[in-house]
Amino acid sequence: ILITLEGPEGAGKTTILHQILPILTQMGVDILTTREPGGIRIAENIREIILAPENTAIDGKTELLLFAAARRQHLNEKVRPALAEGKIVIIDRFIDSSVAYQGYARGIDVADVETINNFATDGLLPDLTLYFDVDTEIGLSRVMSGDREVNRLDLEAQEMHQKVRAGYQAIAKANPKRIVTIDASQAIDQVVAATLSTLQIRFPE
Ligand code: C5P
Ligand code: MG
Repeated sequence: ILITLEGPEGAGKTTILHQILPILTQMGVDILTTREPGGIRIAENIREIILAPENTAIDGKTELLLFAAARRQHLNEKVRPALAEGKIVIIDRFIDSSVAYQGYARGIDVADVETINNFATDGLLPDLTLYFDVDTEIGLSRVMSGDREVNRLDLEAQEMHQKVRAGYQAIAKANPKRIVTIDASQAIDQVVAATLSTLQIRFPE
């Protein structure tokens, strides 16, 4: 089973993943958690190129192709083998990030982004995507107050964050069977509880 976590900066994806992992493991779920871009050496190398502060002038399509390259290698080396072993794989970001960021927010034709995604993944879709929807001001204030790595979006305008959110909302609306929206403006504890109950409803065993 493949589950992906999506949402803008400050939605709490990474924090939530860290909190639910021990709970699910204790329940006896055989789980692999990983992230994009990254998760394996080649993809982490590509991540460094994309996120390096000196590379902020990167062309949007170049960035899209780098994300796609990292995604493909990560799927082939790590995700598909784990799925073949019957594991539940949870990825922090996947295809919808490309559509929201490079498509809706940075203005690359969404159909082109979807074509590139499909090329990179050979059409693999998550069984379930949790979209953490967060109010722009709350999301940005979490990013600013945290001590996480300084990244691109920290430096970008609120307008960008809003475009990403609008993009995700459109994607969620267009894929109601695959994507469940979780209100991530709530306190993190409540978001964790909502995440666990969504997983329990979807995968009762
Ligand atoms: O997942 P994480 O929050 O660590 O993402 C790292 C950075 O890459 C974030 O600033 C995010 O906004 C950005 N990003 C992006 N396009 C994507 C995926 C992530 O600009 N497709
Ligand atoms: Mg994160």
